[in-house]
Amino acid sequence: MKIYNTLSGKKEDLKTIEPGKVRMYVCGPTVYNLIHIGNARPMIIFDTVRRYMEYRGYEVNYVSNFTDVDDKIIKAANEEGVDAKVISERYIEECKKDMAGMNVKPATVHPKATEEIDGMIDMIAGLIEKGYAYKADDGTVYFRTRKSEGYGKLSHKNLDDLRSGSRALLVSGEDQKEDPLDFVLWKPKKEGEPYWESPWCEGRPGWHIECSVMSRKYLGESIDIHAGGEDLVFPHHENEIAQSEAANGKEFARYWMHNAFLNIDNKKMSKSLGNFFTVRDISEKYDLQVLRFFMLNAHYRMPLNFSEELMEAAKNSLERITTAADNLRYLIKNSRTEKTSDTERALLKEADRYRVLFDEAMDDDFNTADAITAVFELVKFINVNASSDNSSEYLEDLLGRLKELTDVLGIITDREDELLDEDVERLIEERSAARKNRDFARADEIRKKLSDMGIILEDTREGVKWHRA
Ligand code: AMP
Ligand code: ZN
Repeated sequence: MKIYNTLSGKKEDLKTIEPGKVRMYVCGPTVYNLIHIGNARPMIIFDTVRRYMEYRGYEVNYVSNFTDVDDKIIKAANEEGVDAKVISERYIEECKKDMAGMNVKPATVHPKATEEIDGMIDMIAGLIEKGYAYKADDGTVYFRTRKSEGYGKLSHKNLDDLRSGSRALLVSGEDQKEDPLDFVLWKPKKEGEPYWESPWCEGRPGWHIECSVMSRKYLGESIDIHAGGEDLVFPHHENEIAQSEAANGKEFARYWMHNAFLNIDNKKMSKSLGNFFTVRDISEKYDLQVLRFFMLNAHYRMPLNFSEELMEAAKNSLERITTAADNLRYLIKNSRTEKTSDTERALLKEADRYRVLFDEAMDDDFNTADAITAVFELVKFINVNASSDNSSEYLEDLLGRLKELTDVLGIITDREDELLDEDVERLIEERSAARKNRDFARADEIRKKLSDMGIILEDTREGVKWHRA
């Protein structure tokens, strides 16, 4: 299995610290609002990475945090006149609903920054003791960036270039820094902000320290994979490396994975451009499975453009997969023989190649686009080689193969039991409307479609009734 490592700029073989186990940390969202579809990209991508590794037999310890103390949360809380905790808890719950809709598995642990303050204070104290951090007069604690060996190795930046660029970045109150490159580990409280006691001042942690601390607590001093969106490479991940490696004296993470950004109609998504969509907005129009499938159609390191047309296309292609699964289920129920024949056995052997193609694509730095092509090849094979003359065992085997691959992608193909009644009702309404408009061709087409799905219609005086075959 090869993974592109931002650290080396190359695809590398996955070699985990402990054989058969993966320790993975993914930077999670700041919870001050409903998550937007850009935030959904890393969630879906790294959930798929996790699922693929599990499918390949790894045990994955997957940790993803919620940043629940931050300026934006405090601002939202002040605007509503509530406690910051009310805002963060509300949006953590909402985020979990969106994750469930997108079939993103809950992490092994979802730590929250505000529940890990003691650990942060410990790590900061340790850094001060080792000379990697210092307290300024106002109680702010800074990390001494220049002391960190290899700073810039992830973002491939040179300290001196950074230095000239960062002079202008000095903001008020930061004039106590020894060096403009130093960054905040702990800062004093301001009026109306949540704060915690610490040896330096009443205050709150900087953003970067939380991930170093949670990663160490739940996964150990060294981990296999650390991931997030590409905007996090610098300074967030660079600073995490500096803190963790200074504190632990060990390599922090072996592989660094970063997804590229999602744009809307080829523009950056932003509230001011009016092209900002939350996952909830999308769920009003589409099943979130479509959003997931749409995201997986592109390689995660390529910028992804979002548009209505592309979502419609994703919806249609996803339907080809779910229809193939539905057909198989229908055929299984109506099959007349049970045991696999020799001819069928030969066909199943032939179908092995789709799994090989799928694995090859995923082994190549999680090329989900090519993996989906392999799924479509399997769908084509099913459409040609599955009929009511086949044995139920053979059909079950084909369905198992399709489900195995769609499960890795996190695409659900058997929601029809929950959805079916609704879908049937909708199609029946559409058929009635077609008949009213004397569009009998369309009405017949719908009856045929329903009958293919095992739904029998009866036109009665009280209206249309239906039952399953
Ligand atoms: P934030 O809540 O801003 O810390 O973001 C949470 C995650 O979403 C991070 O991994 C970001 O890199 C990622 N992210 C934010 N915006 C986008 C976007 N437009 N496209 C892809 N990933 C994004
Ligand atoms: Zn982080």
